Amino acid sequence: MPNPLKKASRNAPGKYYVDRTLCTMCQVCVSMGEGYFEIDWDEETAYVTSQPDGKFGEMAVREAMLSCPENAIGDDGDKVEQKRRELDE
Ligand code: SF4
Repeated sequence: MPNPLKKASRNAPGKYYVDRTLCTMCQVCVSMGEGYFEIDWDEETAYVTSQPDGKFGEMAVREAMLSCPENAIGDDGDKVEQKRRELDE
């Protein structure tokens, strides 16, 4: 189960994240996630490049999450995303 305390350091702020301790850099999320995932070769983990802001982006990220063989992609839920937006304002 992904742990939000072990997020990849380059992960975009928001509800979706990659747990760097579970990721094996298989790149499935990079091919399934339509630009929302990249590999950080220095940290040796995938990370979320930006949080999806529309229905299709959300579907792509969720598809990647379901396809991750290590269950390394987490979702903190909308309350966390809402809190982040409040802090940005
Ligand atoms: S699919 Fe999962 S294990 Fe593979 S690179 Fe992405 S986050 Fe890492």
